[in-house]
Amino acid sequence: MFFSTKKERREELLAEPFPETWLGYLRENVFLYRLFSSEEQSKLQAALRIFIAEKYWEGCGKLEITDEIKVTVAAQACLLVLGFDNYYFDDLRTVLVYPGGYLSADPSEAASHANYLLGEAHPKGPVVISWWHTRWEGRRLGKRNLVLHEFAHKLAQIDDPNSEIPPIANADLRARWEKVMAAEYEQLCDDVDRERSTVIDPYGATNLAEFFAVVTEAFFLQPGALQKRHGQLYGLLAEWFRQDPAARRPLDQADLAHASAAESEYIAHTIEEYSVAIRLRPDDPDAYRGRAALLAEQGDVEKALADYNTVIRLARDDPDAYCDRAELTITQGRLEQALADLDTAIRLDPDFARAYRQRGAVYARLGDLRKAITNFTRAIRADPENMEAYRARAQAHAALGDDEDAERDRASVKKLKAAARKKQK
Ligand SMILES: [Zn+2]
Repeated sequence: MFFSTKKERREELLAEPFPETWLGYLRENVFLYRLFSSEEQSKLQAALRIFIAEKYWEGCGKLEITDEIKVTVAAQACLLVLGFDNYYFDDLRTVLVYPGGYLSADPSEAASHANYLLGEAHPKGPVVISWWHTRWEGRRLGKRNLVLHEFAHKLAQIDDPNSEIPPIANADLRARWEKVMAAEYEQLCDDVDRERSTVIDPYGATNLAEFFAVVTEAFFLQPGALQKRHGQLYGLLAEWFRQDPAARRPLDQADLAHASAAESEYIAHTIEEYSVAIRLRPDDPDAYRGRAALLAEQGDVEKALADYNTVIRLARDDPDAYCDRAELTITQGRLEQALADLDTAIRLDPDFARAYRQRGAVYARLGDLRKAITNFTRAIRADPENMEAYRARAQAHAALGDDEDAERDRASVKKLKAAARKKQK
């Protein structure tokens, strides 16, 4: 009797030519594949074949597992481990795939409450993933990617299922990792609190485990921006993943055309997905909020407005809901309507910097620069690091001929910028 070893089985598998249809899935569904060198592409092809052959795949919610699903999931998972030799998430046995987002029935939670999830990486257990998100996030050039995210969690769980960071054998790297990651995490939390725009997705501020998953997404999806604004963090990840995504070839015209087509399809499908979520949970304001933002982005203002109206009906005391609606009506020139919403937001939260800043901008457009300045000042008092408010107040001062005040605000903007840069180093 002859039993082949794992190594022999892998060699046998790789001796077969790579299926032509699979190449099509890679080109269509995995945007990053286009940017890889031909050497990296071959390595990824080999890795995903081994991954596909050695995992148990199961469709959930009536989903039938196809080759397209396997190739699209496996390619995105394996590009994380492309820098390693012969590692294919060996400790993972099962991949469960749902057609879209799904309701988890966590027994530890009250029976009436189920979470709407897109994916999970169970410690010592399977990865669960939404096919819809896997496909669309793989195709576009977005800032988030579900497969990269869940499999990054899997990497963190390699030796210790409760660990927030992946295993790091090198003591020097580990020491630097702990120091830099802690500082970067603090910085992100602070930026999120102050509503500053960030390269790293705000979801990373949830906890250190999510932080690692989210910076992994940024490392592969926006390597240039991450390297520029978070150089040390980028360096650590490059060392650990043994990859340098920022050094991959820049996007060309064909890539951009592909990305833009995928993006339009993605938005259309995301709107559909929100509609499904709304049918499942018609009282959840977040789904309306998400759909409204996308509808507004597509220029479908009336539908977006209808969704924002629903958000306000469902979350009458949420000042953000009024600011969201005001943001849309401002772009429509419906300034009186926007003012009414911003007044409500401020009544609900008298320290709400966002609402004061927006209300200042409306008064500036109405030509009432004094009132604009009063509102920007209130925004600054509520949030002393609100760069946008200083910038807007400087413009209002300048328009009134108060050059000294304008200059003082510009100096504040400069100072805040310098401080932010220093923190990011
Ligand atoms: Zn996560």
